[in-house]
Amino acid sequence: MNTTNVTINGTTYPVISVNTVVVGTGAASLNAAVQLDRLGVQDLLILTERVGGGTSCNTGSDKQTYYKLSVAGGGVDSPQEMAHSLFDGGAMHGDLALIEATLSAQGFYHLAGLGVPFPHDRYGSFVGYKTDHDPRQRATSAGPKTSMLMFEKLLAEARRRNLQIKEPVEVIGILTRDGACAGLVCLDASQLDAPGHGLFLVNATNVVFGTGGPAVIYQDSVYPTVHTGSTGIALEAGVPGQNLTEWQYGLASIKFRWNVSGTYQQVIPRYISTAPDGSDAQEFLNPFFASMTTLTTDIFLKGYQWPFDPRKVRDYGSSIVDILVYNECVVRGRRVFMDFRANPTNAGNPALAPFSFDELGAEARTYLENSHALQDTPIARLHHMNPLAITLYAEHGIDLWTEPLEVAVCAQHNNGGLKGNIWWESDLRHFFPIGEANGSHGVYRPGGSALNSGQCGSLRAAQFIAARYGDTPPAPDAFAAAVAAQVAVRQRQVDNLTAAGGSHAALEAYRTTLQARMTAYGAYIRDAAQLDAALAEARAQLAAWDTLGATPADLPYALKNRDAILTQIAYLAAMQEALRRGGVSRGSYMVMHPDGELPCDGLGDAFRFVLGDDPLKEELCETTLAPDGAVTHAWVPRRPIPPDDGWYENIWAAYREDEIIR
Ligand SMILES: Cc1cc2nc3c(=O)[nH]c(=O)nc-3n(C[C@H](O)[C@H](O)[C@H](O)COP(=O)(O)OP(=O)(O)OC[C@H]3O[C@@H](n4cnc5c(N)ncnc54)[C@H](O)[C@@H]3O)c2cc1C
Repeated sequence: MNTTNVTINGTTYPVISVNTVVVGTGAASLNAAVQLDRLGVQDLLILTERVGGGTSCNTGSDKQTYYKLSVAGGGVDSPQEMAHSLFDGGAMHGDLALIEATLSAQGFYHLAGLGVPFPHDRYGSFVGYKTDHDPRQRATSAGPKTSMLMFEKLLAEARRRNLQIKEPVEVIGILTRDGACAGLVCLDASQLDAPGHGLFLVNATNVVFGTGGPAVIYQDSVYPTVHTGSTGIALEAGVPGQNLTEWQYGLASIKFRWNVSGTYQQVIPRYISTAPDGSDAQEFLNPFFASMTTLTTDIFLKGYQWPFDPRKVRDYGSSIVDILVYNECVVRGRRVFMDFRANPTNAGNPALAPFSFDELGAEARTYLENSHALQDTPIARLHHMNPLAITLYAEHGIDLWTEPLEVAVCAQHNNGGLKGNIWWESDLRHFFPIGEANGSHGVYRPGGSALNSGQCGSLRAAQFIAARYGDTPPAPDAFAAAVAAQVAVRQRQVDNLTAAGGSHAALEAYRTTLQARMTAYGAYIRDAAQLDAALAEARAQLAAWDTLGATPADLPYALKNRDAILTQIAYLAAMQEALRRGGVSRGSYMVMHPDGELPCDGLGDAFRFVLGDDPLKEELCETTLAPDGAVTHAWVPRRPIPPDDGWYENIWAAYREDEIIR
């Protein structure tokens, strides 16, 4: 690695020349860096907004899950079988499913070896449990903070290896040359007020891009507030996305962002909605239910049927709750709370029997009885079963004993994302999207697959770079000549922003507008006409981006707004395209149609939705964004799972001849 200066159009920029630059310090990026170093790639630099930013290091859940091959006990499992669990969710390439299954054991043991405290028994077995969409007991967990522990141990390993981390750096552009990635445009966020505002360039042979999911586009989100993502700059550079339609949404608290799954629902709190100012509390679920048994069973089931799933809507399935929350928050403009201080009542619907344990369905009653959790109130039951669940909120200033908890149905994870091949390299050569930025997953996936995918993809990228892409980057002057026009575009954006000045409030308003749009029209309720309108609005908002200025301190925020609106345009366009092609409700979203069925009595015709065989299950939508904001789509059939025909002698020969990594 070396640093020098180059001059482009009269402006002088520091340039770092390096073989491989890794962007981000989430669990995926840190693993990429560690694996690159292990494989001998020593000309290596990590750039990150902040060590300690991102999702891995700032999120968790009741029992945060890691999905891997079953490696304990006498049950039968195999990479092929696990690949099917990933593949059968629909719209996922079979070779990627097989790789994620096969490498899951290696990735897992690497983490365990680094000290992530995955529990094992006295014989060394890493026992597992069943997670959603999992036919075996493949899931494991190091507790509520599994991803934070992964981050911690991987960071310690990166530090032990003396890997260079530069922070605070905001990558604001991806440079290209002849269909390949050439490097990055960055802001050194500690130099924003200096002349040149900290702009610098990276001249790299390879870019590993572990920037996480594009959380910035949603208002109702359970991603940590510190995390935004940077998918937009990759799309802008011509990297195609795939499966941009596929997300996971579920109920989460919004003051402190946390999934309200597991015991939070199993204790059966009262759901209320209020006017925006907190007045006029109503038990809004009541009018839609015919019995207290169904109402309380649905709330109970949300504990382990957490993500919204359109297949769980009919016949008063548990996902009805999510729809009714949408009706309150988005359609009626009210706020929704889970109130642990009181049991549900029959307010507003005298046809409902009063709450009593006798009114619960058998599953809920048995669960509470077996857990000795028949206390009078939800909070007392929660205190009995899971006191740490109360402490967690207390640590964030929310006292569940005395106040209701504000919730919404929030975006939690993007199954789709940037497209990569079997080495996680994108169509833009030498650019490797890894972790949640990479969209390897399809419609449904077993819980815990995201963390596994991050470890497998980062290892694959490192293997490929170490084997094939060890070249030093071009001389700085040649690099500067090749990317001069692209750098000039960013420089102009920075100049225009700072020349106009501008207020942080205006930039915040810009972001709030785009986030509210995505939550209303591009989340778990999707309607073709509304998507058309939302996309038109988003395009108009992109056109207006230039009119807002920014102080130097706000440059990263203003440029992230641009990233966000570009991302939103690509994602909304992909959603619109899926509906045009006949897509029906699937995964974690509902497709509305005037001829569809009503989720339940009492909701207006706007809630009619279509469910049925998924006509798009066997293909993936690849989405490409042009520099002018135009979006094109290509539907590609999904690749099957490669057959299990490996013959050792042949593989060994190919391996010796260096024919494997290609
Ligand atoms: C509430 C919640 C619960 C979850 N539970 C589970 C679970 O149980 N099991 C599971 O498998 N998954 C779960 N997930 C998903 C999983 O946590 C994430 O997919 C994963 O942590 C993402 O890791 P990553 O390394 O790809 O990205 P992140 O950890 O998000 O890291 C991204 C990094 O990139 C940096 N960055 C971004 N943009 C830039 C830029 N322009 N310049 C410089 N740096 C940049 C960020 O600062 C950060 O360091 C959950 C997610 C949430 C929100």
